[in-house]
This record gives sequence, C-alpha cells and structure tokens, in this order.
Amino acid sequence: MKQFRNNVIRAGLGALYFTGAHYLLRPIFSGVGAIFMLHHVRPRRDAEFQPNRHLEVAPDFLRAMLSHLRSRGIDIITIDEVHQRLRERNFSRRFASFTLDDGYRDNRDFALPVMREFDAPLNVFVVSDFAEGTGKLWWIALEMVIARASAIEAVIGDVATRLDTSTPAAKQAAFDRLHDWLRALPGDDIQREIAALCARHGVDEPAICRDLCMSWDELKLFVDDPLVTIGAHSITHCNLARQTEEIARHEMAIGRARIESALQCPIVHLAYPYGDKIAAGAREFALARAAGFKTAVTTRPGMIFPESADHLTALARVSLNGNYQDTRILPVLTSGAATAMWNGFRRIDAA
Ligand SMILES: [Zn+2]
Repeated sequence: MKQFRNNVIRAGLGALYFTGAHYLLRPIFSGVGAIFMLHHVRPRRDAEFQPNRHLEVAPDFLRAMLSHLRSRGIDIITIDEVHQRLRERNFSRRFASFTLDDGYRDNRDFALPVMREFDAPLNVFVVSDFAEGTGKLWWIALEMVIARASAIEAVIGDVATRLDTSTPAAKQAAFDRLHDWLRALPGDDIQREIAALCARHGVDEPAICRDLCMSWDELKLFVDDPLVTIGAHSITHCNLARQTEEIARHEMAIGRARIESALQCPIVHLAYPYGDKIAAGAREFALARAAGFKTAVTTRPGMIFPESADHLTALARVSLNGNYQDTRILPVLTSGAATAMWNGFRRIDAA
C-alpha cells in the first residue's frame, strides 16, 4: 500500500512536471509562500533497506532547493517572520521558511552549513525528551530490529504472527505492517512492544536517542547561531490527538517550558508530532492557541495563503521527502500544484 502511494506521488510529481500543469496551477495554488518540512539532512547511505528514508534529504538536495528559491527571488525567512508577515498581511514578496523536526544532530552538522552558504535561517523543533537523552524514537528502533533480524514474531491484534525479514523486500513489507500496527497503538503500548522487540533482537534502544539527537549542551551552542530558531515539538513525541486534553496540554506546555529553561530563550512556535489529521485536529489547534504559541505547524500538505493568517496554529507545510530527491520537482513543489493535488485542491485545511 505504501509503495502504491509512493508510486502515485512520484507519478503525480512527474505528470505535473512533464505536462507543465504546475505553471497553469500556479496562480491559484502557489499562495504567498511555503513552509518546508524536513527531518534529517545527511549524506545518502547505501543500505538497500531504508524504510525511514522519506525522513532524510541529502545536503545537495537542500542546496538545490535553496538555490532554486534564491534564483526566483523568494525570501527565505524565520518562522517568526512568517508569523509577522501573515499578521501584517505583508505579501509584497513571496517567502519560504525551513523547518526541521525532532532536533537531530545532523541538522547542525549538515543542514546549518548549507543554510549558511545562502545566509538562510532554519527553524528546529525540539522534543524535550530527545534533548534529555531519554526519548524513544520507535520508528528507528523498528528499522534497526528488522535490519538485523531474519524473522520477527509479534502478537498483532491478538494473533501470534511471524514475519519473514530475510530479504530487503521482506524487510520493507514487515516494516510497513509493523509500523502501521504500532502507530495505531496508544503511546505506552508502542513503547512496550518496541522495548520487547529491541530486547529480543539485541538493539540498544536507549542509545538511539543519544546517537541521533542534540543534547541540551549541544542545543545551547546551536541556538547561539543567528540563523537558528528553536521551537517546541512536545515532551515525548506522542500523538497529541490520542491523549486526554490534560495530557495534550501538558505535552505542549511542559515540553516548551523545559526548552525555555535549558536554553534560556522564549519558545513561541510549535510543531505537532506526526502532525497529520490523526495526530493534530481542531482541539490541538485550540490548545496551541490557548498556550500562547504564535504559530503551530502541521504535516498537512499545502502552501501558505493570505487566509492562513486566520489559522496560525494550523499551518500547512511542504515536505521535502527523501524518496523524491529529483531537482526537476523543485518548481513543482514551489508552484503549490503538488500539495494542492495531495490535499484535494483545498487552499486551507484547518478543520
Ligand atoms: Zn517529529
């Protein structure tokens, strides 16, 4: 199913590019700007089994996007300035803002140097448990378990199931199945199941967070760079919409308070963990507003329009997806045609 979806997306991007339809759609869907969403930025790896590859782009691809934007005279601005321009209805120039979720160390080592080449700011959304070194990155733990296992046993929906993971294709199929199963579980259950899989297959789960994420000490230096803005991304990276209102509020407020006290700077922007419709909806948009965040970004696909000013805690983004690192799609992504196609040709999707 995931492969099918990937193929549809790739075919859609290709069709938009080759037909030139993105130029025709531009006046309607290009909006006034875009907020790009990234996770990891690091050099490509060779491994055939990379189920989380959609979450990483190579420094070259980021450079190509920045160069594309600069050549079109599009301003590259902080999320704070996005907020200001929306508030002031200042749309005299098109803009782009780069947001990177989770707080990975490669953001400092690979993204920041590329951004610096263009004197372009970046916004990094930090999960406080990840900075603390105690976070659970279960999607990466799952990748590591499957990478080393030749078969996996799990009880999926009360049924004892044995999944073949002996070939790259089997590993990908097993990952898709287990990922969908785990994502539908309550947070504590995901952690329990993943901890059991890691123990059984010899994966050092606590090390994953410390290996990949910036610590508080690293973040303190990182935030000193004038190009860097830090935002909040919850305490534990849970699906907020599945929590009680009290816990969802706590995840937003305390995640933010911990960053503020560690980095001694105000935190006024939020990214919802997962950020799709099943993880962030009307209740979360209202909670973020009540908590005083100036903006909150989702992972719903879309450009920014003047009317986004009325939905500052439900902002859409354009994903720079590691599966589609083809420079020919850059004009398609900035035209808004691709995201318009993916979100059903809605300009605003904030319900
Ligand atoms: Zn995240």
